[in-house]
Amino acid sequence: MIAYDLTCCNGHTFEGWFEDARTFQTQKQKGLVTCPVCSAAEITRLPSTFAIKNKPALSRRPLAAAKTSLETLGRQIQEYVETNFDDVGPDFAKEALKIHYGAEKPRNIRGVSTEQEEKTLREEGVDFVKLPVPVSAKDKP
Ligand SMILES: [Zn+2]
Repeated sequence: MIAYDLTCCNGHTFEGWFEDARTFQTQKQKGLVTCPVCSAAEITRLPSTFAIKNKPALSRRPLAAAKTSLETLGRQIQEYVETNFDDVGPDFAKEALKIHYGAEKPRNIRGVSTEQEEKTLREEGVDFVKLPVPVSAKDKP
């Protein structure tokens, strides 16, 4: 005797016992295999238990890959900012205002600012984005 995990066209899953694989095929073709819940004769064999057991192990890899790419993305953003933005350090608010009022050529800058400076920038309508920075950079004098 062999046991098959079966599912009907309505999504019910159940177990069916057959003498052998050929018996299952014959009974299925004759419409003798029916769902115990809704009596539907459209029955499909589910993948064997072995295949189901393997699934979690296989799906673990894409998850790990997603985590890695997220870390890579974070690093890429950091690298992009470091490469393409002028580091003006604590003069960020001053430089941002200069650019905002046309005293200096528009350019990408990065740096640190105090809460008060950020408030001023917002009041002046300066667009800026705050990014999380490494702890060491946060330790302002
Ligand atoms: Zn059913």
